[in-house]
Amino acid sequence: MTAKSRDDNSLSLATDYKPLELEKEIREFWEKNQIREKLEQREKDAKGVLGYVEGPPTLNGIPHIGHSRGRVMKDIRYRWKTMQGYYVPFWAGWDCQGLPVELEVEKLLGVKNKRELLERVGMERFVEECKKVIMKYHRQWVEADRRLGIFINQDKAYWTYLDAYIEREWQILKRAWDQNLLEEGHYVVAYCPGCQTSLSSAEVGYEGSYKDVEDPSLYFKFKVAGTANEYFLVWTTMPFTIITDTMLAVKPDAEYAKVKVDNELWIMVKQRVEPVMQELKITKFQITKTTTGKSLEGTRYDYPLKDLIPGQAELETRHKLVHRVIGEDFVDVDTATGVVHLSPGNGEEDFWAAQKRGVPVFAPFDDEVKFTEEAGVFNGVFARDTDYLVVEELRSRNAFVAVKKVVHEYPTCWRSHHKLVWLARKEYFLRTDKINSKVLEAAEKVQYYFDEPKNRFMAFLKEGKPWCISRERVWGTPLPMWTCEKCGSKRLVASKKELVENALEQVPETFELHKPWVDRITLKCEKCGGIMRREDFVLDTWHNSGASPYARFTDEEYARFVPTDFLTEGIDQTRGWANSLLLEYVILTGKPQAPYHAFLFQGLTQDAKGRKMSKSLGNILETNKLLEKCSADLCRFYMMRKCPVIDFMNFDLQELNRRSYQVLSTLYHLSRFFLQNAEFDEFQPQRYRFAGNQMLWDRTLINLQPADRWLLSKLQETIEEYTLKLESCEFNVATAILENFIIETLSRLYVPMIRKELWTDDPETSERRQTIYAILHYTLKTITLLFNPVTPYLSEALYQKVYRKFDAKLSESINFECWSEPDEKMRDKPLEEEFEVLFKCVSLAYAARQQAKLKRRWPLSKVIVVAPQKTSKALRAHEPLFLELTNVKKAEYAGQVPDYVGGENWVSATEGDVHVFVSGQRDDKLLGEGIMRDLARRVQALRKELGYVPTDVLDAVHIAELDEDSVGLLEPYLEEMAELVRTKKVYLHGSRGEVDAEWHESKLDGKRIYIAIH
Ligand SMILES: [Zn+2]
Ligand SMILES: [Zn+2]
Repeated sequence: MTAKSRDDNSLSLATDYKPLELEKEIREFWEKNQIREKLEQREKDAKGVLGYVEGPPTLNGIPHIGHSRGRVMKDIRYRWKTMQGYYVPFWAGWDCQGLPVELEVEKLLGVKNKRELLERVGMERFVEECKKVIMKYHRQWVEADRRLGIFINQDKAYWTYLDAYIEREWQILKRAWDQNLLEEGHYVVAYCPGCQTSLSSAEVGYEGSYKDVEDPSLYFKFKVAGTANEYFLVWTTMPFTIITDTMLAVKPDAEYAKVKVDNELWIMVKQRVEPVMQELKITKFQITKTTTGKSLEGTRYDYPLKDLIPGQAELETRHKLVHRVIGEDFVDVDTATGVVHLSPGNGEEDFWAAQKRGVPVFAPFDDEVKFTEEAGVFNGVFARDTDYLVVEELRSRNAFVAVKKVVHEYPTCWRSHHKLVWLARKEYFLRTDKINSKVLEAAEKVQYYFDEPKNRFMAFLKEGKPWCISRERVWGTPLPMWTCEKCGSKRLVASKKELVENALEQVPETFELHKPWVDRITLKCEKCGGIMRREDFVLDTWHNSGASPYARFTDEEYARFVPTDFLTEGIDQTRGWANSLLLEYVILTGKPQAPYHAFLFQGLTQDAKGRKMSKSLGNILETNKLLEKCSADLCRFYMMRKCPVIDFMNFDLQELNRRSYQVLSTLYHLSRFFLQNAEFDEFQPQRYRFAGNQMLWDRTLINLQPADRWLLSKLQETIEEYTLKLESCEFNVATAILENFIIETLSRLYVPMIRKELWTDDPETSERRQTIYAILHYTLKTITLLFNPVTPYLSEALYQKVYRKFDAKLSESINFECWSEPDEKMRDKPLEEEFEVLFKCVSLAYAARQQAKLKRRWPLSKVIVVAPQKTSKALRAHEPLFLELTNVKKAEYAGQVPDYVGGENWVSATEGDVHVFVSGQRDDKLLGEGIMRDLARRVQALRKELGYVPTDVLDAVHIAELDEDSVGLLEPYLEEMAELVRTKKVYLHGSRGEVDAEWHESKLDGKRIYIAIH
């Protein structure tokens, strides 16, 4: 036996596709040879620059598979665009500050709230702990990127907490300040009593922040001043807001009624009288009078808790509208009573209603949302804990009507899950409402790929609310605003240098742009000479990360890379990073332009059952743990293949190991099949060039077979469509195109058409074999390159161990190769159509065989195709292939079923107007050939089992104990069989005893036989 000897390990393809081993080896190859670094150094030869800024992951937790899906998309884009010849600054970035990090540290330190934190831990140590935590998680993230094969530059990462970054973030604020877009003011904001900070309206709208909570449902009444028995009937689910009540509101154009209940008159909107009475179980009532809402305006009412709340008594003296009725169109007359009580200190609409009338805002709360002294008897009680105290006080003052419990949806804090409270507070705002039209115009110019996320994003932006950027926390970018104690004038500091130079005190060397250090610096007021102190706020962490297109680059880089080409993040970032990037960029440039030309929003990743991944469910798949036992390429391919980018993806480990593995393993084995055969024939890829539908081998023109031309044509189609689908971010369709080419076009259709031609080592047919190698070489190499963005490990392995092995002059890494362009000269659509017809008729012939249990490898005498002219013409053009694939000796074509066809000797199958008849009759010749093929198949299986490679030529095949009839039928085919199974000679034996060999038992049509090979 002759067998090809093995080469050294690093350059050989193992028999089986074992992705974990292969990936480890390739990772080491990349690192040892600094492939990623070299790829980036190709910047100078690039045909263009595509700007990029990394959406920084928050370093407050361990990376899980949901994060990985997005990172893989980024890496796909990077590798693909780089192969197309572009330079992309694919540099990492880390979100280091803000509430998420603070809460993680609080948890580690075991403190419950901010006050305890400041008292027990202190700011300096807290800041140190925050830095430790981000470094701890950073290591995990870098490792996850490394395993996933993400080619991001970690050395050039930006960190949002560093002074250099913060200074540039300040410069954006400076731009806002100069344009009068940064304001201080009392506004009603959503406030979390747990985190003790306000939230932006974006944060309030986060997915899952609305939860079913239980609240009191209270009907109460305020007496009309100066009357004996008239009352306004009002409803609320937040009785504590009665403490800050300031006015009542009615809808001016609605009809209101006075309803007689016992000996009182209750005022409410007419259309709600029936349902409300029903709800209050009041059966005896009567409408005595109706009037418009307008006529009620100005009516004074007796605020019942005045004696308990000194602030309320004082409030009445400050404005004549306090405790009076006003008209407002926002009053809802389809629910409750159509009379609403307004607490400008606790409601957004209430606040604006007061603001436009000059009515003062009563908001007696401290930072923990406990009432202050101004609230009298409620002093020191957490706002929501006063609900039932208020109810009791109303009861004792004949202001109570009814109370029960109601479960309703109410916003909670997305971090700590506390019920949010709306509070009027002094905050700093970016008046993004003033530039809303520019923001919308900018957002309209962006490409989003899918309509749904675009609509969601645009709808959110249209709300156009001012952006509350101040946070009452510690670990964040300090608001660089200093206010004069004496005259109140303000100064915005835009750099560390400016701050240090103007500081009244000596600035220590350890100084950094964080609390508490920055708070210790005071400035001198230029107007009055007074002392200026910093406003005690840090910035919203979204402002921090949203500054990145400007803050992470130098001026020169910023000019080159921004606006960026393409960004992608989770769908939840419509209210997060995508939003803050856009707002800050419009402020910075003053132009209606986004800092990104395209933004792809991805659906989130869930567990196999479609549940959100969460700590409480224990279903989080950590990337590093997963990749210890699971291939990165498989994960990458699976995550892209499974569903459209915008869909929520259910990550199923079992599913991952099935189809995705089959696809990658098929590519691997096809490559190995090519390698073994081509090496055996000493194929040299440098010698071939394709020229249209011919091939140039050295200087000889060689005609290609139709099957070759068909494959090349399909390949061009695949290159074109795959590239288009990458461009439109339809990764699931793109990977399906690759999958289909590998599994169907190449493995199931093309290889069976040429396999037999490779079985011989006859010098006469050497040219044909070289042609096939050239076809396979070109096709598989192209496909391997197309796979590279998605499965970089497998592609690199094949590139090194197959293609560089044949041609050492190839680039050092697959990543340095150029992206393939479809070659129109190789495209042949009529031929593709003919082959469609051919394959259709072949599968009909198989279907016909199946009915009569006629095995495919049994040759049959005749096939008749009854079909329209066009079909017959296509089959005639490729008749040798048709006969070969159907394993039939002769084909006939007819417009209608011939007379002699029918009866039990014929089987048929039909699709549309195509009928395929196969003759089931088998004579001795056909039977003999059939037995030979059955045996050949068993020998092939045995060869494989015993570890022979396809190119090995055996010395002998022995078959023993075959029955006499079969021996007679088989004998004329022994030579053909020898060729088929790549052996020098086939021997038949009556019994096993005739030769001393290692026999293997097998079965032929139910009878026992024995085979030996060597
Ligand atoms: Zn909270
Ligand atoms: Zn001053």
